[in-house]
Amino acid sequence: MDKKKIYDIVDSLNPGLEEACRYIWQNPELGGSEEKASAYFRDMLGKAGFEIHEIDGMPNAFYAEYGSGKPVIAILGEYDALPGLSQKAEAAKCAVTEGAPGHGCGHNLLGSGAATAAVALKEVLDKDGLTGTIRFYGCPEEELLIKGKVKMVYYHLFDDVDFALTWHPMCHTLVWDGAALANMSARFYFTGISSHAGAAPEKGRSALDAVELMNVGVNYLREHVIDKARIHYTTNSGGLPPNIVPPKADSWYFVRAPHMSDIREIIERIKKIAEGAALMTETQVESVIEGGCCEIRANHALSDLVQENLEACPLPEYTAEELEFARALQKECNPAVVARDTALFEAYDSPMMQKVGRRDLHLAAPLTASTDGGDVSFVVPMHMFAVACWPVGVAPHTWQAAAANGTTLAEKGALYAAKVLACTAYDLLTKPDRATAITKEFEATKDPDYKPMPQLD
Ligand SMILES: [Zn+2]
Repeated sequence: MDKKKIYDIVDSLNPGLEEACRYIWQNPELGGSEEKASAYFRDMLGKAGFEIHEIDGMPNAFYAEYGSGKPVIAILGEYDALPGLSQKAEAAKCAVTEGAPGHGCGHNLLGSGAATAAVALKEVLDKDGLTGTIRFYGCPEEELLIKGKVKMVYYHLFDDVDFALTWHPMCHTLVWDGAALANMSARFYFTGISSHAGAAPEKGRSALDAVELMNVGVNYLREHVIDKARIHYTTNSGGLPPNIVPPKADSWYFVRAPHMSDIREIIERIKKIAEGAALMTETQVESVIEGGCCEIRANHALSDLVQENLEACPLPEYTAEELEFARALQKECNPAVVARDTALFEAYDSPMMQKVGRRDLHLAAPLTASTDGGDVSFVVPMHMFAVACWPVGVAPHTWQAAAANGTTLAEKGALYAAKVLACTAYDLLTKPDRATAITKEFEATKDPDYKPMPQLD
Protein backbone atom coordinates (compact mmCIF):
# COMPACT_ATOMS: atom_id res chain seq x y z
CA MET A 1 0.00 0.00 0.00
CA ASP A 2 1.21 3.49 -0.82
CA LYS A 3 2.03 5.44 2.35
CA LYS A 4 -0.29 8.21 1.09
CA LYS A 5 -3.16 5.77 1.50
CA ILE A 6 -2.12 5.15 5.10
CA TYR A 7 -2.08 8.92 5.71
CA ASP A 8 -5.60 9.07 4.24
CA ILE A 9 -6.81 6.27 6.51
CA VAL A 10 -5.40 8.07 9.57
CA ASP A 11 -6.89 11.37 8.37
CA SER A 12 -10.29 9.70 8.11
CA LEU A 13 -9.97 8.77 11.80
CA ASN A 14 -9.18 12.35 12.85
CA PRO A 15 -12.63 13.16 14.30
CA GLY A 16 -12.29 10.18 16.66
CA LEU A 17 -8.71 11.15 17.48
CA GLU A 18 -9.68 14.72 18.37
CA GLU A 19 -12.59 13.50 20.47
CA ALA A 20 -10.32 11.07 22.36
CA CYS A 21 -7.63 13.74 22.96
CA ARG A 22 -10.25 16.18 24.27
CA TYR A 23 -12.14 13.63 26.42
CA ILE A 24 -8.99 12.44 28.21
CA TRP A 25 -7.79 16.05 28.62
CA GLN A 26 -11.14 17.07 30.13
CA ASN A 27 -11.14 14.08 32.50
CA PRO A 28 -7.60 14.06 33.93
CA GLU A 29 -6.93 11.04 36.14
CA LEU A 30 -3.81 10.38 38.19
CA GLY A 31 -1.70 7.25 37.71
CA GLY A 32 -3.49 4.33 39.31
CA SER A 33 -6.98 5.79 38.91
CA GLU A 34 -7.42 5.95 35.12
CA GLU A 35 -10.85 4.27 35.07
CA LYS A 36 -12.43 6.67 32.56
CA ALA A 37 -9.45 6.81 30.21
CA SER A 38 -8.90 3.05 30.12
CA ALA A 39 -12.65 2.47 29.62
CA TYR A 40 -12.64 5.01 26.78
CA PHE A 41 -9.80 3.28 24.94
CA ARG A 42 -11.22 -0.22 25.59
CA ASP A 43 -14.45 0.98 24.00
CA MET A 44 -12.70 2.68 21.07
CA LEU A 45 -10.58 -0.37 20.22
CA GLY A 46 -13.42 -2.82 20.90
CA LYS A 47 -15.75 -0.95 18.54
CA ALA A 48 -13.00 -0.96 15.90
CA GLY A 49 -12.94 -4.77 15.98
CA PHE A 50 -10.05 -5.47 18.35
CA GLU A 51 -10.27 -8.23 20.93
CA ILE A 52 -9.84 -6.79 24.43
CA HIS A 53 -7.66 -8.64 26.94
CA GLU A 54 -7.74 -7.71 30.61
CA ILE A 55 -4.66 -7.94 32.81
CA ASP A 56 -4.97 -9.48 36.28
CA GLY A 57 -3.76 -7.14 38.99
CA MET A 58 -3.85 -4.08 36.70
CA PRO A 59 -7.47 -2.87 36.44
CA ASN A 60 -6.62 0.18 34.31
CA ALA A 61 -4.36 -1.69 31.90
CA PHE A 62 -5.36 -3.90 28.99
CA TYR A 63 -4.28 -4.87 25.54
CA ALA A 64 -6.38 -4.90 22.41
CA GLU A 65 -5.43 -7.28 19.63
CA TYR A 66 -6.22 -7.63 15.95
CA GLY A 67 -4.83 -9.93 13.28
CA SER A 68 -2.88 -13.14 13.60
CA GLY A 69 0.60 -14.54 13.33
CA LYS A 70 3.97 -12.84 13.21
CA PRO A 71 5.20 -10.23 13.57
CA VAL A 72 3.46 -9.05 16.70
CA ILE A 73 3.68 -5.26 16.84
CA ALA A 74 2.87 -3.44 20.07
CA ILE A 75 1.71 0.17 19.99
CA LEU A 76 2.00 1.62 23.49
CA GLY A 77 -0.49 4.23 24.72
CA GLU A 78 -0.43 6.15 28.01
CA TYR A 79 -3.21 8.25 29.52
CA ASP A 80 -2.40 9.35 33.08
CA ALA A 81 -2.35 12.98 34.24
CA LEU A 82 -0.23 14.88 36.78
CA PRO A 83 -1.18 16.29 40.19
CA GLY A 84 -1.83 20.04 40.53
CA LEU A 85 -1.61 20.83 36.80
CA SER A 86 -5.24 21.64 36.12
CA GLN A 87 -5.20 24.31 33.41
CA LYS A 88 -7.61 25.85 30.93
CA ALA A 89 -6.71 25.79 27.25
CA GLU A 90 -5.61 29.42 27.51
CA ALA A 91 -2.32 31.28 27.29
CA ALA A 92 -2.50 32.45 30.90
CA LYS A 93 -2.13 30.41 34.07
CA CYS A 94 -5.68 29.59 35.08
CA ALA A 95 -6.81 26.26 36.55
CA VAL A 96 -10.04 24.57 35.51
CA THR A 97 -10.21 23.38 39.14
CA GLU A 98 -7.61 24.73 41.55
CA GLY A 99 -5.24 21.99 42.76
CA ALA A 100 -6.78 19.31 40.54
CA PRO A 101 -4.81 17.08 38.16
CA GLY A 102 -4.10 18.10 34.58
CA HIS A 103 -2.49 16.78 31.41
CA GLY A 104 0.86 18.56 31.64
CA CYS A 105 2.73 15.73 29.90
CA GLY A 106 0.33 15.26 27.00
CA HIS A 107 -0.57 11.66 27.73
CA ASN A 108 -4.09 12.50 26.48
CA LEU A 109 -2.44 12.94 23.06
CA LEU A 110 -0.04 10.05 23.49
CA GLY A 111 -2.76 7.47 24.17
CA SER A 112 -5.12 8.87 21.53
CA GLY A 113 -2.46 9.03 18.80
CA ALA A 114 -1.29 5.50 19.59
CA ALA A 115 -4.83 4.07 19.64
CA THR A 116 -5.64 5.81 16.34
CA ALA A 117 -2.53 4.30 14.76
CA ALA A 118 -3.65 0.83 15.90
CA VAL A 119 -7.14 1.33 14.43
CA ALA A 120 -5.63 2.54 11.13
CA LEU A 121 -3.35 -0.50 11.01
CA LYS A 122 -6.35 -2.81 11.29
CA GLU A 123 -7.71 -1.24 8.12
CA VAL A 124 -4.30 -1.58 6.45
CA LEU A 125 -4.08 -5.28 7.41
CA ASP A 126 -7.59 -5.89 6.07
CA LYS A 127 -7.08 -4.02 2.79
CA ASP A 128 -3.69 -5.56 2.02
CA GLY A 129 -4.47 -9.00 3.44
CA LEU A 130 -1.29 -8.89 5.51
CA THR A 131 -0.23 -11.44 8.10
CA GLY A 132 0.67 -10.01 11.46
CA THR A 133 -0.76 -8.99 14.82
CA ILE A 134 -1.36 -5.44 15.99
CA ARG A 135 -1.67 -4.88 19.70
CA PHE A 136 -2.54 -1.65 21.44
CA TYR A 137 -1.28 -1.72 25.01
CA GLY A 138 -3.27 0.51 27.36
CA CYS A 139 -0.51 1.55 29.76
CA PRO A 140 -1.58 3.25 33.00
CA GLU A 141 0.41 4.99 35.77
CA GLU A 142 3.42 5.98 33.63
CA GLU A 143 4.15 9.03 35.75
CA LEU A 144 4.74 6.85 38.82
CA LEU A 145 7.78 5.32 37.08
CA ILE A 146 7.69 2.16 39.20
CA LYS A 147 4.61 0.26 38.04
CA GLY A 148 2.82 0.59 34.67
CA LYS A 149 4.94 -0.89 31.93
CA VAL A 150 7.55 -2.18 34.40
CA LYS A 151 4.80 -4.31 35.90
CA MET A 152 3.64 -5.36 32.42
CA VAL A 153 7.17 -6.53 31.63
CA TYR A 154 7.34 -8.23 35.05
CA TYR A 155 4.10 -10.03 34.12
CA HIS A 156 5.69 -11.18 30.82
CA LEU A 157 3.14 -9.34 28.68
CA PHE A 158 5.71 -8.60 25.96
CA ASP A 159 7.21 -12.07 25.71
CA ASP A 160 5.74 -12.79 22.26
CA VAL A 161 6.03 -9.22 20.94
CA ASP A 162 8.51 -8.55 18.11
CA PHE A 163 8.53 -4.74 17.99
CA ALA A 164 7.15 -1.96 20.17
CA LEU A 165 6.44 1.59 19.05
CA THR A 166 5.34 4.68 20.88
CA TRP A 167 5.80 8.45 20.86
CA HIS A 168 5.71 11.42 23.19
CA PRO A 169 4.45 15.00 22.77
CA MET A 170 7.24 17.55 23.11
CA CYS A 171 8.27 20.94 21.72
CA HIS A 172 10.34 19.22 19.05
CA THR A 173 10.10 16.47 16.43
CA LEU A 174 12.92 13.96 16.43
CA VAL A 175 13.93 10.34 16.99
CA TRP A 176 15.22 9.39 20.41
CA ASP A 177 17.85 6.84 19.54
CA GLY A 178 18.22 5.70 23.11
CA ALA A 179 16.83 8.13 25.60
CA ALA A 180 15.70 8.80 29.12
CA LEU A 181 17.50 8.14 32.38
CA ALA A 182 16.90 5.10 34.53
CA ASN A 183 15.15 6.03 37.75
CA MET A 184 14.75 4.52 41.20
CA SER A 185 12.33 5.64 43.88
CA ALA A 186 13.29 5.19 47.54
CA ARG A 187 11.69 6.33 50.79
CA PHE A 188 13.43 6.78 54.11
CA TYR A 189 11.19 6.64 57.18
CA PHE A 190 12.73 8.02 60.38
CA THR A 191 11.31 7.33 63.84
CA GLY A 192 12.35 9.41 66.83
CA ILE A 193 10.93 10.15 70.27
CA SER A 194 8.25 12.73 70.86
CA SER A 195 8.59 15.22 73.67
CA HIS A 196 7.62 18.77 74.64
CA ALA A 197 10.09 20.88 72.69
CA GLY A 198 10.09 23.61 75.36
CA ALA A 199 9.54 21.72 78.61
CA ALA A 200 11.64 18.58 77.97
CA PRO A 201 13.64 18.87 74.73
CA GLU A 202 16.41 16.64 76.15
CA LYS A 203 13.97 13.74 76.18
CA GLY A 204 13.05 14.10 72.50
CA ARG A 205 14.79 12.70 69.44
CA SER A 206 13.71 14.49 66.28
CA ALA A 207 12.94 12.48 63.16
CA LEU A 208 12.83 15.77 61.24
CA ASP A 209 16.42 16.53 62.29
CA ALA A 210 17.37 13.18 60.79
CA VAL A 211 15.64 14.03 57.50
CA GLU A 212 17.44 17.39 57.37
CA LEU A 213 20.83 15.85 58.14
CA MET A 214 20.25 13.11 55.61
CA ASN A 215 19.44 15.65 52.89
CA VAL A 216 22.55 17.68 53.76
CA GLY A 217 24.61 14.50 53.54
CA VAL A 218 23.17 13.63 50.15
CA ASN A 219 23.86 17.14 48.90
CA TYR A 220 27.54 16.59 49.76
CA LEU A 221 27.39 13.25 47.94
CA ARG A 222 26.48 15.03 44.69
CA GLU A 223 30.10 16.06 44.13
CA HIS A 224 31.15 12.43 44.15
CA VAL A 225 28.73 10.77 41.77
CA ILE A 226 28.83 10.63 37.98
CA ASP A 227 27.99 13.89 36.18
CA LYS A 228 24.82 12.57 34.59
CA ALA A 229 23.23 11.39 37.83
CA ARG A 230 20.27 13.40 39.10
CA ILE A 231 19.12 13.18 42.69
CA HIS A 232 15.95 14.88 43.87
CA TYR A 233 13.88 14.67 47.02
CA THR A 234 10.79 15.89 48.78
CA THR A 235 9.21 15.28 52.12
CA ASN A 236 5.55 15.01 52.95
CA SER A 237 5.90 14.76 56.70
CA GLY A 238 7.83 16.83 59.15
CA GLY A 239 5.82 16.86 62.31
CA LEU A 240 3.06 18.91 63.88
CA PRO A 241 3.52 22.23 65.76
CA PRO A 242 7.13 23.15 66.62
CA ASN A 243 6.49 22.57 70.32
CA ILE A 244 6.28 18.82 69.73
CA VAL A 245 9.56 17.09 68.86
CA PRO A 246 8.65 15.29 65.60
CA PRO A 247 8.65 11.52 66.22
CA LYS A 248 8.05 10.70 62.55
CA ALA A 249 9.42 12.18 59.33
CA ASP A 250 10.40 10.82 55.97
CA SER A 251 12.30 11.72 52.87
CA TRP A 252 11.36 10.57 49.35
CA TYR A 253 14.11 10.32 46.78
CA PHE A 254 14.31 9.79 43.02
CA VAL A 255 17.76 8.88 41.77
CA ARG A 256 18.33 8.99 38.02
CA ALA A 257 21.32 8.02 35.93
CA PRO A 258 22.05 6.73 32.42
CA HIS A 259 22.04 3.10 33.62
CA MET A 260 20.30 1.22 36.41
CA SER A 261 23.69 -0.15 37.54
CA ASP A 262 24.85 3.45 38.28
CA ILE A 263 21.74 4.01 40.35
CA ARG A 264 22.14 0.87 42.44
CA GLU A 265 25.58 2.07 43.50
CA ILE A 266 24.34 5.58 44.38
CA ILE A 267 21.35 4.23 46.31
CA GLU A 268 23.61 2.09 48.49
CA ARG A 269 25.57 5.22 49.39
CA ILE A 270 22.38 7.17 50.11
CA LYS A 271 21.26 4.38 52.42
CA LYS A 272 24.52 4.76 54.37
CA ILE A 273 23.90 8.50 54.68
CA ALA A 274 20.39 7.79 56.03
CA GLU A 275 21.87 5.40 58.56
CA GLY A 276 24.45 8.04 59.50
CA ALA A 277 21.70 10.60 60.02
CA ALA A 278 19.84 8.15 62.24
CA LEU A 279 23.00 7.52 64.25
CA MET A 280 23.64 11.24 64.72
CA THR A 281 20.11 11.91 65.93
CA GLU A 282 19.52 8.68 67.85
CA THR A 283 16.55 7.91 65.67
CA GLN A 284 15.80 4.85 63.59
CA VAL A 285 15.45 4.62 59.85
CA GLU A 286 13.68 2.20 57.55
CA SER A 287 14.76 2.35 53.87
CA VAL A 288 12.22 1.20 51.30
CA ILE A 289 13.14 0.85 47.65
CA GLU A 290 9.79 1.35 45.96
CA GLY A 291 10.85 0.37 42.47
CA GLY A 292 12.28 1.88 39.35
CA CYS A 293 12.51 1.86 35.61
CA CYS A 294 15.35 1.50 33.14
CA GLU A 295 16.66 3.82 30.47
CA ILE A 296 15.53 3.32 26.86
CA ARG A 297 17.97 1.10 24.99
CA ALA A 298 18.84 2.32 21.53
CA ASN A 299 18.06 0.27 18.45
CA HIS A 300 19.73 2.22 15.65
CA ALA A 301 18.11 0.19 12.85
CA LEU A 302 14.65 0.91 14.23
CA SER A 303 15.54 4.58 14.79
CA ASP A 304 16.60 4.80 11.12
CA LEU A 305 13.22 3.46 10.05
CA VAL A 306 11.34 5.91 12.27
CA GLN A 307 13.47 8.80 10.97
CA GLU A 308 12.54 7.89 7.39
CA ASN A 309 8.86 7.86 8.29
CA LEU A 310 9.07 11.14 10.20
CA GLU A 311 10.66 12.76 7.14
CA ALA A 312 8.25 11.23 4.62
CA CYS A 313 5.06 12.18 6.46
CA PRO A 314 3.60 15.65 5.73
CA LEU A 315 4.06 17.86 8.78
CA PRO A 316 1.11 19.54 10.50
CA GLU A 317 0.02 22.86 9.07
CA TYR A 318 -1.25 25.44 11.52
CA THR A 319 -3.85 28.17 11.18
CA ALA A 320 -2.93 31.78 11.94
CA GLU A 321 -5.04 31.53 15.09
CA GLU A 322 -3.16 28.44 16.31
CA LEU A 323 0.20 30.12 15.71
CA GLU A 324 -0.99 33.22 17.54
CA PHE A 325 -1.92 31.03 20.52
CA ALA A 326 1.47 29.30 20.33
CA ARG A 327 3.23 32.67 20.32
CA ALA A 328 1.22 33.85 23.33
CA LEU A 329 2.06 30.65 25.22
CA GLN A 330 5.73 30.98 24.32
CA LYS A 331 5.75 34.48 25.83
CA GLU A 332 4.80 32.86 29.15
CA CYS A 333 7.99 30.77 29.15
CA ASN A 334 11.50 31.57 30.35
CA PRO A 335 12.97 33.71 27.51
CA ALA A 336 16.42 32.16 27.89
CA VAL A 337 14.96 28.66 27.42
CA VAL A 338 12.92 29.83 24.41
CA ALA A 339 16.03 31.38 22.84
CA ARG A 340 18.11 28.25 23.49
CA ASP A 341 15.46 25.91 22.05
CA THR A 342 14.75 28.20 19.09
CA ALA A 343 18.42 27.89 18.09
CA LEU A 344 18.58 24.16 18.87
CA PHE A 345 15.50 23.30 16.84
CA GLU A 346 16.07 26.01 14.22
CA ALA A 347 12.57 27.35 14.73
CA TYR A 348 13.36 30.94 13.77
CA ASP A 349 10.28 31.63 11.69
CA SER A 350 7.58 30.03 13.78
CA PRO A 351 6.78 29.40 17.46
CA MET A 352 6.37 25.71 16.47
CA MET A 353 9.16 23.47 15.22
CA GLN A 354 7.90 22.86 11.69
CA LYS A 355 10.56 20.45 10.50
CA VAL A 356 11.95 17.05 11.46
CA GLY A 357 15.11 17.19 13.54
CA ARG A 358 18.17 15.67 11.95
CA ARG A 359 18.90 12.05 12.87
CA ASP A 360 21.42 12.91 15.62
CA LEU A 361 19.64 15.92 17.15
CA HIS A 362 18.70 13.88 20.21
CA LEU A 363 22.38 13.99 21.22
CA ALA A 364 22.16 17.79 21.50
CA ALA A 365 18.73 17.64 23.14
CA PRO A 366 18.87 14.49 25.28
CA LEU A 367 15.83 13.37 27.21
CA THR A 368 16.93 13.51 30.84
CA ALA A 369 13.56 12.53 32.24
CA SER A 370 12.59 8.89 32.74
CA THR A 371 9.87 6.62 31.40
CA ASP A 372 8.62 3.21 32.45
CA GLY A 373 8.76 2.36 28.72
CA GLY A 374 12.51 1.92 29.21
CA ASP A 375 11.90 -1.56 30.56
CA VAL A 376 10.00 -2.55 27.41
CA SER A 377 13.09 -1.66 25.37
CA PHE A 378 15.07 -4.26 27.35
CA VAL A 379 12.81 -7.13 26.27
CA VAL A 380 11.82 -6.09 22.73
CA PRO A 381 13.16 -3.61 20.13
CA MET A 382 11.32 -0.40 20.97
CA HIS A 383 11.29 3.14 19.72
CA MET A 384 9.74 6.25 21.26
CA PHE A 385 9.94 9.37 19.09
CA ALA A 386 9.08 12.96 19.95
CA VAL A 387 6.57 15.10 18.07
CA ALA A 388 6.19 18.86 18.40
CA CYS A 389 2.84 19.49 20.06
CA TRP A 390 3.90 22.53 22.08
CA PRO A 391 5.59 25.81 21.17
CA VAL A 392 9.38 25.72 21.23
CA GLY A 393 10.57 26.34 24.79
CA VAL A 394 7.57 24.76 26.51
CA ALA A 395 8.66 21.97 28.84
CA PRO A 396 6.69 18.91 29.97
CA HIS A 397 4.99 19.00 33.39
CA THR A 398 4.12 22.70 33.09
CA TRP A 399 0.85 24.59 32.88
CA GLN A 400 1.90 25.82 29.43
CA ALA A 401 2.05 22.23 28.17
CA ALA A 402 -1.27 21.44 29.87
CA ALA A 403 -2.85 24.43 28.09
CA ALA A 404 -1.54 23.41 24.66
CA ASN A 405 -2.63 19.79 25.17
CA GLY A 406 -6.28 20.83 25.17
CA THR A 407 -6.13 22.48 21.73
CA THR A 408 -6.01 21.61 18.04
CA LEU A 409 -2.42 22.87 18.00
CA ALA A 410 -1.34 19.79 19.96
CA GLU A 411 -3.96 17.47 18.45
CA LYS A 412 -2.40 18.05 15.03
CA GLY A 413 0.84 16.67 16.47
CA ALA A 414 -1.02 13.56 17.66
CA LEU A 415 -2.44 13.04 14.16
CA TYR A 416 1.04 13.29 12.63
CA ALA A 417 2.37 10.87 15.28
CA ALA A 418 -0.42 8.39 14.46
CA LYS A 419 0.62 8.47 10.79
CA VAL A 420 4.29 7.90 11.62
CA LEU A 421 3.43 5.03 14.00
CA ALA A 422 1.17 3.39 11.42
CA CYS A 423 3.68 3.77 8.58
CA THR A 424 6.59 2.46 10.67
CA ALA A 425 4.50 -0.55 11.72
CA TYR A 426 3.56 -1.05 8.05
CA ASP A 427 7.26 -1.17 7.14
CA LEU A 428 7.87 -3.74 9.87
CA LEU A 429 5.06 -5.85 8.41
CA THR A 430 6.13 -5.56 4.80
CA LYS A 431 9.92 -5.11 4.75
CA PRO A 432 11.40 -8.30 6.19
CA ASP A 433 14.99 -7.15 5.58
CA ARG A 434 14.49 -4.06 7.74
CA ALA A 435 12.65 -6.06 10.41
CA THR A 436 15.39 -8.70 10.51
CA ALA A 437 18.13 -6.07 10.85
CA ILE A 438 16.29 -4.57 13.83
CA THR A 439 15.87 -7.97 15.49
CA LYS A 440 19.51 -8.89 14.86
CA GLU A 441 20.71 -5.64 16.43
CA PHE A 442 18.46 -6.21 19.42
CA GLU A 443 19.78 -9.74 19.96
CA ALA A 444 23.40 -8.60 19.57
CA THR A 445 23.07 -5.79 22.10
CA LYS A 446 20.71 -7.47 24.58
CA ASP A 447 21.46 -7.16 28.29
CA PRO A 448 21.46 -10.78 29.53
CA ASP A 449 21.30 -9.66 33.17
CA TYR A 450 18.19 -7.50 32.82
CA LYS A 451 15.36 -8.11 35.26
CA PRO A 452 12.44 -5.72 35.85
CA MET A 453 12.32 -4.24 39.35
CA PRO A 454 10.25 -6.47 41.66
CA GLN A 455 6.71 -5.24 42.24
CA LEU A 456 5.74 -4.49 45.83
CA ASP A 457 2.05 -5.30 45.42
ZN1 LIG B 1 5.13 11.83 29.71
